[in-house]
Amino acid sequence: MTGVLDSWGRNINYLRISVTDRCNLRCIYCMPPEGLRQMPQGEILSYEEIRTVVQAAAELGIHKVRLTGGEPLVRAELPQLIRMLRQIEGIRELSLTTNGTLLKKSALELRQAGLSRVNVSLDTLRAERFRHITRVGELKDVLEGIEAAKKAGFDPVKINTVVVRGINDDEILDFARMTNSEGWHVRFIELMPFGDVAQSVPSVELRQRIELVGKLEPCPDLNGIVSNGPAAYYRLDGAKGVIGLISPLSEPSFCSRCNRLRLTPDGKLRPCLLAEEEVDLKMPLRNRVPLAEVKRLILKAVASKPERHHLKRGNVRLTNRKMPAIGG
Ligand code: SAM
Ligand code: SF4
Repeated sequence: MTGVLDSWGRNINYLRISVTDRCNLRCIYCMPPEGLRQMPQGEILSYEEIRTVVQAAAELGIHKVRLTGGEPLVRAELPQLIRMLRQIEGIRELSLTTNGTLLKKSALELRQAGLSRVNVSLDTLRAERFRHITRVGELKDVLEGIEAAKKAGFDPVKINTVVVRGINDDEILDFARMTNSEGWHVRFIELMPFGDVAQSVPSVELRQRIELVGKLEPCPDLNGIVSNGPAAYYRLDGAKGVIGLISPLSEPSFCSRCNRLRLTPDGKLRPCLLAEEEVDLKMPLRNRVPLAEVKRLILKAVASKPERHHLKRGNVRLTNRKMPAIGG
């Protein structure tokens, strides 16, 4: 086992890094229409600073890293960061979560830079609805991005779908069928009440609705291909792709499987997405503290991971930061 044990016996081996709070979309459950007040450029960690954090994390046994945002592909020269992180001994998996709109032109370069996996967030397969959900986006760009990722050798491409009642929950079966026709790995995520939209659909209901068209067989970890923490996986009979259910609200044991820390664009380590506590790394990094001190601060963040969050369905909860400023 690699990683660090937290106070509740969980093995923390995964770091999600938000490389920017900027985004080219305005998803209704994530951002207000006018966007968020942007962090000043100088507050955002440089690639060298991120590399130092990952180096320290890797020395502690945290061997999986995911880049996210905001939209990570709006940050200039992202492949350069990937090349830098790839060279760190102990980093076994380096992945990216993206809205996919800019993937068409960058997929191959990302692959060549050493990116292991890509998750594309896509909540609808209907162009008009895509525009409604993202307020400004074009579905075609994402579908072309997914194709480009496949061509570049990312296999499987994983799709993250946030399900919102009354907005896209009538497309669950269409997405489920894509695990068959396209081999997509689709992960349905329960909406967390960060924004103004709070109508989540519990995973148990999703499961029942999918099972009306075919039996879902529980699917064990396929050599690490599908699993990365708190999701349950299933497969429709004969399908190449799998269906994952991520249930932060409805699954009581969700937090017990949490394996992650988050690094915000402005250099705060956040032990839990949904708790306000943060450990600042930016000032220490800018004061050029030794790596041992960065490791100590990472351990401090791990030690302060809460046992669980206290979100409830239907409640809109205000946190000190919106999702893009934390890293979803
Ligand atoms: N922009 C990139 C993207 O959309 O994939 C990366 C950042 S985004 C914040 C990361 C993930 O968080 C996306 O899959 C997005 O759908 C999800 N997300 C955003 N707001 C959410 C919410 N309120 N509840 C659940 N998931 C959310
Ligand atoms: Fe941007 Fe991702 Fe948030 Fe949508 S979910 S607004 S793409 S950061």
